[in-house]
Amino acid sequence: MSQAQELDLERVYAHIDAHGDEIVERLRTLCRQPSVSAQGLGLEEMARLVRRMLDELGFQTELVPLEDGPPVVYGELLNPNAKKTLVIYNHYDVQPPEPLELWESDPWAAEVRDGKVYARGAADNKANIASRLAAIEAFLKTRGEVPCSIKWVIEGEEEIGSPHLREFIERYKGRLKGDGAIWEFGGLDYGDVPGITLGLKGMLYVELRVQTLGRDAHSANAAIVESPVWRLIRALSTLQDGEGRILVEGWYDDVRDFTPEELEALEREPLDEEQLKRDLGVPRFLRGMTGLELKKALAGAPTANLAGLWAGYTGRGHKTVLPKEAHAKMDFRLVPDQDPQKLKALLRQHLERHGFGDVELTIQAETPAARTPITAPIVQVARETAREVFQKEPNVHVSSGGSGPMYHFTTVLGLPTVAIGCNHPYSNTHAPNENQRIDVLVQGTKWIAAVIARFGALTA
Ligand SMILES: [Zn+2]
Repeated sequence: MSQAQELDLERVYAHIDAHGDEIVERLRTLCRQPSVSAQGLGLEEMARLVRRMLDELGFQTELVPLEDGPPVVYGELLNPNAKKTLVIYNHYDVQPPEPLELWESDPWAAEVRDGKVYARGAADNKANIASRLAAIEAFLKTRGEVPCSIKWVIEGEEEIGSPHLREFIERYKGRLKGDGAIWEFGGLDYGDVPGITLGLKGMLYVELRVQTLGRDAHSANAAIVESPVWRLIRALSTLQDGEGRILVEGWYDDVRDFTPEELEALEREPLDEEQLKRDLGVPRFLRGMTGLELKKALAGAPTANLAGLWAGYTGRGHKTVLPKEAHAKMDFRLVPDQDPQKLKALLRQHLERHGFGDVELTIQAETPAARTPITAPIVQVARETAREVFQKEPNVHVSSGGSGPMYHFTTVLGLPTVAIGCNHPYSNTHAPNENQRIDVLVQGTKWIAAVIARFGALTA
């Protein structure tokens, strides 16, 4: 007996197939409402629209106001007969659509072309909201209930670093008890192979500033006064060697090693190194890395990236100035179990020890990393259901190289979390002509439905 028969999913899948057009229309409705967090555009309206869609399915919903920032949409659909509770995280905000002239159709028109919906936010993250809604609806319409209780958090500030999610999680911690969670993104990898991501890196974002003069001066004074620009460069050069190793004392102390099972998954993870080099326009990777070393670095190496440097005159022609100050922005990607608070102190101590105690540090963001154990039951559920729905062995990604607030779910709430959904490569997220493939939207909906069914049937 197949898994679908065993869990009686055939009728649920049939319902999803029969209502594909409605899933697309709901996605288009979500896309036509602009919701740009960076520009404060349309967020309240979007929150109300999302809430209404949850209300229509019978969720108990609220718009949770935050001290400063758009509300979190929170919904509960509890089944008193179900043994398990699944928590879902999504975001209703999107990236700015600019530059508009590069779009082939209006980013808010949600035009359908070649089997895709084109809109800002279509893939990131509105299709995942639409697919989860449709999966839940399919259970309600065919069975009258969902196989597990659902608690759904949909925030409006993910694209600007989720500055108030911590506040929400702290207030709702007691209500957010559950057995596992589904993260906001995920879907098909290259070659239409399903991918399951178990973790995200953390982030410490720092601005550095050095001032050595009271005002900008004639550069003749460079003979007698220290330049803040040179000083900043010297300070920065103590932070990392030429091959990407971070030189701050103690930086790697808390880095958690991969488990044997995680290493196995990394080994199996496909990575086309030549393609990646071409894509990045580089002849080699740091330290000549290749194979498993390269995958380990992408999934598990802390980084100290210089995101920007500015000082002095950078305009046309020449201007001989000795600037009074110099600035840099750095993003440090963190891995489990690095603590941003501790690293911040280590960074300060390091600069002092190296004679750069005058370098001012301003912290702009700090989020620890998240990584769900590969042995968690929900990982097994995601794998088995991916095989069932896509008829392919899924890739399990131990961690994305990117960052996000998953830590609040995995660590603060203690929920094993998997990132799965209806995304696909070439969807141009954060770029012009963002799009969502309709076939993957429907398949991804079935995947979510299968996960809900199988998760609800877990006995342990
Ligand atoms: Zn995004």
